[in-house]
Amino acid sequence: MPAERSRRGGRRTRPLAGPVGGVVLVALLLGLVGWSVATLQPPAAVPATAPATQFSADRAFAHVQQLATRVHVAGSDADAANVESLVATLTRLGLDTRVQNSVGAWGSAPGSTEMARVRNVVAVLPGTHPTGRLFLMAHHDSVQNGPGASDDSAGVSTLLETVRALKAGPRLRNDVVVVLTDAEEACLCGAEAFASAHPLAEGGGVVLNVEARGTTGPPILFETSRGNADLAAAFAAAAPHPVATSFAVEVYRALPNDTDFSVMLKDGFTGLNTAFIDGAAAYHTRNDVPERLDRRSLQALGDNTLAMARQLGDRDLSPLKKPAAGDATYFPVLGTLVHYPGRLIWPLAIAAALAVLGFALALRARGISSLPRTLGGAALALLPLVLAPLAAQALWWLLVVIRPGYAPMLDPWQPGWYRLATVAVVAAVVLLWYALLRRRIGPATLAVGALVWLAVLGGVLAALAPGGSYLAAWPALAGGVTGLIATLTPSRGVAAVAALVTGAVATVVLAPAVALFFPALGLRTGAAAAFFATLLALALLPAFEFLFPRPEHAGRRTGWAAAAVPGTAVVLAVVCVAAGLAVDRLGPDRPVPSQLAYALDTDTGHAWWASTETKPGAYTALYVDGRTPLPVDYPYLAGADLATGPARAADLPAPEVTPISDEVLGGHRYISVQVRSRRPGVRLIAIDLTASGGRIVGARLVGESVPATALGGSRLRVTFHAPGTDGVQAMFTVDGNGPVSLRAIDGSDGLSGLPGFAPRPAGIEAAGTHSSDLVLVSATTSLGRPPKG
Ligand SMILES: [Zn+2]
Repeated sequence: MPAERSRRGGRRTRPLAGPVGGVVLVALLLGLVGWSVATLQPPAAVPATAPATQFSADRAFAHVQQLATRVHVAGSDADAANVESLVATLTRLGLDTRVQNSVGAWGSAPGSTEMARVRNVVAVLPGTHPTGRLFLMAHHDSVQNGPGASDDSAGVSTLLETVRALKAGPRLRNDVVVVLTDAEEACLCGAEAFASAHPLAEGGGVVLNVEARGTTGPPILFETSRGNADLAAAFAAAAPHPVATSFAVEVYRALPNDTDFSVMLKDGFTGLNTAFIDGAAAYHTRNDVPERLDRRSLQALGDNTLAMARQLGDRDLSPLKKPAAGDATYFPVLGTLVHYPGRLIWPLAIAAALAVLGFALALRARGISSLPRTLGGAALALLPLVLAPLAAQALWWLLVVIRPGYAPMLDPWQPGWYRLATVAVVAAVVLLWYALLRRRIGPATLAVGALVWLAVLGGVLAALAPGGSYLAAWPALAGGVTGLIATLTPSRGVAAVAALVTGAVATVVLAPAVALFFPALGLRTGAAAAFFATLLALALLPAFEFLFPRPEHAGRRTGWAAAAVPGTAVVLAVVCVAAGLAVDRLGPDRPVPSQLAYALDTDTGHAWWASTETKPGAYTALYVDGRTPLPVDYPYLAGADLATGPARAADLPAPEVTPISDEVLGGHRYISVQVRSRRPGVRLIAIDLTASGGRIVGARLVGESVPATALGGSRLRVTFHAPGTDGVQAMFTVDGNGPVSLRAIDGSDGLSGLPGFAPRPAGIEAAGTHSSDLVLVSATTSLGRPPKG
């Protein structure tokens, strides 16, 4: 803006003359970026000596240490021991505590479902005059190849410490029900069994679910029930560390991920789902140990959970038990949570568009830029919007070339420097584009051109993902209004204040989003965080303009001065990449993940190695050499894009199928079998039933009906987790006269001892997937045609 104005000979004051003023202006805004990101960070851990009514991360951590000493996957002895210890702890705290023994089923689709034998720990803290139930949920099982310190012993321990603190304070009005679910990792089946069959689940209620998808970072309220306005307001009022954005809710709703909370939502509960998600490299691996859990994350999670439990525990829950009229928009601003009703989203987006239009018209009125020229500026602004995220993504690809071990990872072990480098790359692209065009096109035209896209995005998001519209609408509104004022009041001072205000609004809105996008989608999808960083950089253009030499000083030396601005960002990017490479060296402490499974078909004696790595790493590639699909459908592997290779057949017995009864009654064929594993440590038994030319119309496993959505076809696949030593008793109802066959598959964990398997060298560890190191053994049993009779 100053460039064109001075061309018109406007009055020039010099409060911010020269590059020093520009540096101060940009430094103020970068300071605000730092402040915005810093206020997201969790607080220091509170020691165990803190007053009893307070949440202490150190006290909670003692529970983590006890629960996460070893792998405690659903159905294991270790998990059973944890269940006993959880019951003892909650009982000692004075809660009426029971174990719900049940079978849950979830994930049903035509022809398939997942089921599990579950043991949920359910404890009640009765209220004085209940208006409803508040459910505090976390899952007590871990994955099969890690002790689950963060996921989700941290959540369970947070709830133990929370109810201890609640008991130390005055009694609450509402019932508080602690639900520590089983088999979340396997199939969310513990939550399903609770929601569908537990008497305390009748009538619904409000759920606070606590989770982790990493070992550090702020706990983020990332998912809510629909119609979240009232709950968001409650969270904003009560949570001492309110890190939440309504955009996360939109993103999460679009992703295929699930937690126990998904089950509760489907059953009509309302509530909030919180997780800390940074430090994803250790997630679901043997490195998810207590020592890696950041106690500050635990403290923030506990502070929020305790405050929310006190608030929701004492107010009338009746309105919160059902969805509010709409969703709210909310986002963190310097340590608080700004929130307003969703009905303001469209007015705000329209106001932003009008403000940008007003800015464009003012430029036209002042003869600075015609409307076609403004549209040209908008077209040019597409360049950084596309190129900067691409460059950020290219940085990750470059890092993978330098460190091939990064290829299968969502995020490196210590991504901090790389994230800074990504932001510097974005700044370099935007500033280079700006430096090349500002003299020819004009700073104001480029600024308004960028704002056009912010305004457009505000509208597009309002239509498609309303909770995210604020990210573009507020910066567009601020940029439009301040640009309009600065255009109509030509003075370098006004321009500086306008740049500061619009930069500040964009910063407090967008900087936290960038900081939260990095861990959420990882550097592997670095373009996502980079896109929002690009929006921020574009909104900061009026401030960056003050760093560039003024046109009336044009000369050879100013060319160098202009190049210095993007040049600084390039240097910063290079320095940050170098620092990241130095800090994040891969090795035994920071291993490379390797995903490998083994499958044996005893019908044919054939065996295979299989990996879900898209481009198998050096170690995995010792076992897999092609992409030939497996001829048999195995749990976790069926339908996956697999790298495979031949393996030697191990001397492992397939599960034993014992027919119990087979009869025809009223036109239906009823088949009953017992499927039992003959191997120790089996985590799952899968049943794959085929009725040639017929239909499977009913099925029960361990007394629990298979959901109707899975039935009706000629084939039924059920993966049954935590089967126990007796195995699975299954009953099927089949229509049709064709032959029936049953393929039984069992799965255990650990590849050592298999023929041809060499243990992974130091620095390579089993990847954090549910199929890592899984050993699957299958056999087919013919159940023949229906008996005559
Ligand atoms: Zn979890």
